[in-house]
Amino acid sequence: MKKEEMTARAWIEIDRKNLSENVRLLQGLLPCGCRLMPAVKANAYGHGAVPVARELNRLGIRELCVASASEGVELRKAGVKGEILVLGYTHPDLFPLLRRYRLSQTVIDASYAELLGSYGKKADVHIKIDTGMRRLGERSENVKRLCELFSCKSSAACKNLNVKGTFTHLCCDESRSPADKAFTYLQARRFYEAVNMLESHGVSCGKKHLLASSGLINYPEIGGDYVRAGIALYGVLSSRNELEGCRLDLRPVLSVKARVAAVKELYAGEGAGYGLTYTADAKRKIAVVSVGYADGIPRSLSNGCGRVLINGKAAPIVGRVCMDQLLADVTEIEDAKSGDIAVLIGKSGESEITAYDLAEASASITNEVLSRLGNRLVRFVV
Ligand SMILES: *Cc1c(COP(=O)(O)O)cnc(C)c1O
Repeated sequence: MKKEEMTARAWIEIDRKNLSENVRLLQGLLPCGCRLMPAVKANAYGHGAVPVARELNRLGIRELCVASASEGVELRKAGVKGEILVLGYTHPDLFPLLRRYRLSQTVIDASYAELLGSYGKKADVHIKIDTGMRRLGERSENVKRLCELFSCKSSAACKNLNVKGTFTHLCCDESRSPADKAFTYLQARRFYEAVNMLESHGVSCGKKHLLASSGLINYPEIGGDYVRAGIALYGVLSSRNELEGCRLDLRPVLSVKARVAAVKELYAGEGAGYGLTYTADAKRKIAVVSVGYADGIPRSLSNGCGRVLINGKAAPIVGRVCMDQLLADVTEIEDAKSGDIAVLIGKSGESEITAYDLAEASASITNEVLSRLGNRLVRFVV
């Protein structure tokens, strides 16, 4: 697609320099011998899994993780190299994809190890240990079941599953408050005890990994062979609150932009948009912007809760955000006209709207705002 076509309606620009700077900053925090295994699930948190993974490959990244087997397949079909770990559940109907596309599968508990092992074909796996989050993973106190399975030479799991790694996921690592710290250390202790137990039964655990973005920033001393960093790689943390405790100069990677379709007058007393929830108090100028909630712009930005930037100036969103369009008050932006670029996330002149701003306006976290950015947005690297 030509540049003009890509920027015709609404699009996402990926800043290559900022992505590589974030990789460098995070690599600087890694314990010795530890590598980044970036999380590119959910379309790389809305950034575009294929362009981001290709860029990461170019930066020398050799391991990636995704949520589902089909996300892994998408990357392989686009020529992405290295190990791709599927963090989530894969239904047995999709087991053939694991081999065909050389994906590593998470063993979500001991029964799943039996199921995947009895599929009868070799598979690369990472064993997941549940150390307290109570989501995926075999409970750490039941690790004996895994020991039996993986050390019994006649079990299907032992014969067919090649253990490339063992991991857990932390659930209270976003701060170092006494309670969070105590729980995080408990999780780390449970994990390393499980690993020791497996290894004492002759099961080789492969690479060990526990940390994601917050873990790396708040608990680097917990260590491991990989860090499964997601959100921080994209230059933000989940909330501004978390950012305040972090001294890293992370740089937002993504901008969302859309074309102004038209600028029109609104006379005093006239309403605008669905339900006419906005009424002009005086003569006003309204820009119709070609992006809406189907593109992932939160509907909660309606009625003045959000803004867009046009020619370096802020224009409050008025009325309700529609599926494909939204309205912004550009009365104060003299030169606003059809064809201008409205910035939804990113910089325009001296002004900036961040993923934090959108997250706060929609009572959410940046992860949700970014990962919900829609398929209709064209993504390209600049
Ligand atoms: C999403 C996810 C990550 C990445 O988390 P961030 O907080 O975005 O760094 C790491 N590990 C697992 C298991 C995940 O589900």
